[in-house]
Amino acid sequence: MRFEFSAGGVVFKKSVISNQQSAILILVSQHSQHHGWVFPKGIIGDHIKGEGKEQTAVREVKEETGVSGKIIKALSPVQYWYVLEGEKIKKTVYYYLMEYLSGDISEHDWEMENVEWIKPEEVENRLTYKSDKEVWKEAQKHLTSSI
Ligand code: ATP
Repeated sequence: MRFEFSAGGVVFKKSVISNQQSAILILVSQHSQHHGWVFPKGIIGDHIKGEGKEQTAVREVKEETGVSGKIIKALSPVQYWYVLEGEKIKKTVYYYLMEYLSGDISEHDWEMENVEWIKPEEVENRLTYKSDKEVWKEAQKHLTSSI
């Protein structure tokens, strides 16, 4: 058994839909290997030794989706188990609510086969895993109280 720690982001973007009205969109992506729809994330300390959770989250979101975000709030960490080559892995993921700053999803890397901005009401059904749906519920509470 071993432990793995990742960090990532639930990124929102305010978009103007008409003169006075704006709406928000949420960034979701489809993993190229397991094909699940998830929030972007990556392993802490995998690329840059000593890199912190926040820096990893911002860098991984940028690499995997093409989008740069600014951290607004830490969300509750999620945990899940999976098995890799017969070994059980307990994974903890630190997600952050992030606001879109710049970048374009057309610049996402190979780790994600699809990246999309979708409406908040579509997010729960699009996400594949229960733990991501829990994180989304928490992010949504913050979004409705602050936007
Ligand atoms: P990272 O994105 O942190 O670099 P990774 O892409 O190597 O990691 P994961 O996305 O954690 O790997 O996927 C590893 C395994 O865990 C896959 O079999 C996947 O189906 C499963 N998995 C991914 N996310 C979840 C989740 N939230 N809940 C349960 N199982 C998950």
